[in-house]
Amino acid sequence: MSLRKIRTFPDPILRKKCRIVKAIDHSVKSLSDDMIETMDYAGGIGLAANQVGVLKRVVTLHLPEEDHRVLVNPEIQASSGVRQVREGCLSFPGYQGLLTRSITVEARWIDRNGSYFKISAEDLLAQAIEHEIDHLNGILFVDHLVAHQHLTRPVTENSLESHNHDLDVTVNVKNNDTYERLKTRVELNKVYSDSSLSELQYDLYDAGYLLDRE
Ligand SMILES: [Zn+2]
Repeated sequence: MSLRKIRTFPDPILRKKCRIVKAIDHSVKSLSDDMIETMDYAGGIGLAANQVGVLKRVVTLHLPEEDHRVLVNPEIQASSGVRQVREGCLSFPGYQGLLTRSITVEARWIDRNGSYFKISAEDLLAQAIEHEIDHLNGILFVDHLVAHQHLTRPVTENSLESHNHDLDVTVNVKNNDTYERLKTRVELNKVYSDSSLSELQYDLYDAGYLLDRE
């Protein structure tokens, strides 16, 4: 097992759709082992494969006081109810948002050993399943915000504002054969819809930027 690098926003892979897993082979098993180790190390309760740079429909979950779960090709078959929840994401370190999620979710998947699972989930499990399956479809929790001002960072010593729309990112800018590190700010209130984010991706690619994976 080994730790994998968690991709953070605005890495374009977070907006990509993951592909169906056709066979649970060695690569899928080692991916899920690594994802569990990476998720636990980061203190998260869920992780989707594109968050570690792999476009496969694989999710790992680790809810408090529960065993790890590996979800291959998970699908939501039905959902009901609406509630507001506070939520974060390992790809947006430090950020939390107020958003809407379902109360109950019926989902199915295949586990690491190829067994078929079908459950009716509530509370945190329903929320985590929705969050992670969204990831597999390139959807992020910031797409579900009740309003942009509900995206906040904890107040720190250096920042008295709890309402902050800006995200600091470091990009490596290609300059002939060398790379120059550049710190820049992305305004989150401008990128929380798919349409504006695709412009951002385009800009990053087009400018020859490589996102910092450090
Ligand atoms: Zn997430």
